Amino acid sequence: MSIPFIDLKAQYALIEDKVRANMDQVLGHGAYIMGPEIKELEQRLGEYIGSRYALGCSSGSDALLMALMALDIGPGDAVFTTPFTFFATAEEIAMVGATPVFVDIDPVTFNMDPACLEKAINALEARDNSIYPLPRGYEELTPRAVIPVDLFGLAADYDRIESLCKAHHLRIIEDAAQAFGAVYKDRSSRACGFGDIGCTSFFPAKPLGCYGDGGMCFTNDGELEEKLRSIRVHGMGADRYDNVRIGINGRLDSLQAAVLLAKFELFPDEIKARNKVADRYAQLLGEEVITPRVPEGYVSVWAQYSVLARDASHREALRARLNEHGIPTAVYYPIPLHLQTAFRGLGYESGTMPVSERSGERILSLPMHPYLDGATQEHIATVIREM
Ligand SMILES: *Cc1c(COP(=O)(O)O)cnc(C)c1O
Repeated sequence: MSIPFIDLKAQYALIEDKVRANMDQVLGHGAYIMGPEIKELEQRLGEYIGSRYALGCSSGSDALLMALMALDIGPGDAVFTTPFTFFATAEEIAMVGATPVFVDIDPVTFNMDPACLEKAINALEARDNSIYPLPRGYEELTPRAVIPVDLFGLAADYDRIESLCKAHHLRIIEDAAQAFGAVYKDRSSRACGFGDIGCTSFFPAKPLGCYGDGGMCFTNDGELEEKLRSIRVHGMGADRYDNVRIGINGRLDSLQAAVLLAKFELFPDEIKARNKVADRYAQLLGEEVITPRVPEGYVSVWAQYSVLARDASHREALRARLNEHGIPTAVYYPIPLHLQTAFRGLGYESGTMPVSERSGERILSLPMHPYLDGATQEHIATVIREM
């Protein structure tokens, strides 16, 4: 018996007819690019998130790129983000020519630590890297924006991040690639709806995934919405052969939107199911590992269920033992971004982001999907408890 890390087949079995019918619709009308499914999806997901505007786009990475472009962020600008995330978050900052300024994470939520953000902002404003580690060339940078990441499906601490950003005139781009629909305190909008622009991904393994690449930008700001719409299609103006700015080919295709419309019908129930799975893990896993804790008032969408081992060798022993029993695991993220080869030019040294570095050594993600049954979870927990 092999246990899937994410069970997309079980999900497909529930919606096969709907997916095929929706795809047939697209094959029938033939509007493969920007067909009617795009607008319908944007309307439905915008409503669900509680965001005035939603714009489908080609991936989560392109959603971040479009957001940075819409805020006119470029060379000489500093964008604060966490090093404990998927590479794309910081990659897109570099893609527009801006400089990522890394901010360490909270050891419990794995999300940006607002206290570290405050120090990093103060350090950059004071041009003093003894206050907080800053990238090479910081003397020349203008602080412009923050990209908090809602890691593993849990929203970052927006109350504290927003008040800092307001005080220091910084824009916020929410990287909600893993957290579409998560709940943060008593807010009327869900994750994707925070900050100036929220970005998500529909990569198949994300909580709401399509059958290829896809993403979406969300905003309540009409001017930003217009810019994003233009950037999405080569900086178009009045029509697509009138180009008023530099943009990208950032469209979502109709077939992926058709798939998402079918999958979205399951989504609210899937979030409930994911939370049941998480609760069951917490009960079953005992003391062998540290299980994730969701702060009061938050609802995670559990893109990953990530536990902490005691140290690197305990993590590797757990991985090996689970693997022997046919239980797949994953490590997100073994190398924090400030230590990635691609960012060597920023000059960050090992030890500058201690919580991210230690988490990367100890973290282990277990199988997590809405269709994970109790017996399989008990089996996984037994293997871990018997270490
Ligand atoms: C997946 C992911 C992205 C990129 O999304 P793609 O659709 O794969 O381009 C960006 N940020 C985070 C945190 C992600 O997990």
